[in-house]
Amino acid sequence: MVLKVDNINVFYGAIHALKGVSVTVNEGEIVTLIGANGAGKSTLLKTLSGLLKVKSGSIEFLGQSIVGHAAQSIVKDGLIHCPEGRRVFANMSVEENLELGAFLRKDSEVRKDMENVYERFPRLLERRKQMAGTLSGGEQQMLAIGRALMARPKLLLLDEPSMGLAPLLVQEIFQIVQEINKNGTTVLLVEQNANQALKIAHRAYVLETGKIVLSGSAAELADSEEIKSAYLGH
Ligand code: ATP
Repeated sequence: MVLKVDNINVFYGAIHALKGVSVTVNEGEIVTLIGANGAGKSTLLKTLSGLLKVKSGSIEFLGQSIVGHAAQSIVKDGLIHCPEGRRVFANMSVEENLELGAFLRKDSEVRKDMENVYERFPRLLERRKQMAGTLSGGEQQMLAIGRALMARPKLLLLDEPSMGLAPLLVQEIFQIVQEINKNGTTVLLVEQNANQALKIAHRAYVLETGKIVLSGSAAELADSEEIKSAYLGH
């Protein structure tokens, strides 16, 4: 098992944002976490990457507890967070952003991985000297994913990669996520676009006001009447 989250509770001051949440991710899976605005999806990802503290419960990554570990050490372990809203470094070039994705790596294959990212995202190669802040929304999302890949993730956390993108680009991003997974990267995908997320995921969890209310295979959830009426819009 790559990730085992067991009964975690997370607070923002008095606000109980995650209430006894348990989630697992197995090697090679795409697991998606769906839920409405404010359900706690981003909170869960921030907790996994060490940006928020748990009050109780356990988090194991590759069989080791990471509770209380610094964010930098979690990145070093290979748990890589691609945050909501892309968060590229606007005043740095595309290439510099990619280099930063690899800043904790000491091996000699960084260059090779950058070539792989450029192969996957030819648009980034064309624009490698361009300031990231001047890229289109879709290009920035590609850069954010490319930067995460530069860290060689053993588990990639993707927070709403389709947010704010035109429908055609949304398709492209989901296809890219699927390809990255087929090439061996395990993915935990947070999405409001439940329709698309359930199409590419193996398993899914539904989060409502800080609690997991449903889980199962993505196909099962896509067929559930409850999910259809609440999240799939039909
Ligand atoms: P969205 O899809 O809108 O991003 P989400 O499911 O990712 O929603 P979170 O951002 O995890 O939701 O927020 C969960 C709850 O925690 C919300 O009620 C939110 O208002 C609250 N919250 C988030 N960040 C903070 C913070 N820094 N301080 C206080 N409350 C917060």
